[in-house]
Amino acid sequence: MNLILLGPPGAGKGTQAKLISSNFEVPHISTGDIFRANISQNTELGIRAKQFMDKGLLVPDEVTIDIVKDRLTKDDCKNGFLLDGFPRTVKQAEALDKFLSQNGKKIDATILIDVPKEDIFDRMTGRRVCTKCGASFHVKFNPPKVEGICDLCGSEVVQRKDDTEETVKERLEVYDKQTEPLVVYYKSKNVLKAVDGTQDINKVFKDISNILGEND
Ligand SMILES: [Zn+2]
Repeated sequence: MNLILLGPPGAGKGTQAKLISSNFEVPHISTGDIFRANISQNTELGIRAKQFMDKGLLVPDEVTIDIVKDRLTKDDCKNGFLLDGFPRTVKQAEALDKFLSQNGKKIDATILIDVPKEDIFDRMTGRRVCTKCGASFHVKFNPPKVEGICDLCGSEVVQRKDDTEETVKERLEVYDKQTEPLVVYYKSKNVLKAVDGTQDINKVFKDISNILGEND
């Protein structure tokens, strides 16, 4: 099964990716991971990508596409894969489709973990993390017993910079702008499957499993 996973930050995409990968025996291919791997191994692609990153520039589509293609030709992708963080643009999506069709393959499903923006906003801005042990809390859904103090180690519990209202708003806007065209694209290919990401983790995964079961 050749899969793509889409979803806003804070929607539990990482957790679902792990579950899908282990239950359906497809490698979880996160673009962040393969970039880091190529760079740390000094591959030709890694060197190309790094030239842009060192200058603080976005890695161009061509390079990103080549890095993903290279990964998809590895042995463990023979029976499928789960892409996470790619494609980010319609141009990347088209390049991926072209590459797959040249190899007699196609995307079987693009799973969208759907969570209303207000929910994401609450989930992320309410997050608090222990400065010492890293334990995580939520002011509304999982507050520490004493406000501002970690239940586990008694250290201070703070909001990460990534979780401030300003940053979350910005991240959600970027996400919307990037994802909407992809949603339209995959809808037009009849492979977009949305699941309700406001449910608990197991129910979300059950819905995904049902969708993937129908694909078998
Ligand atoms: Zn702690």
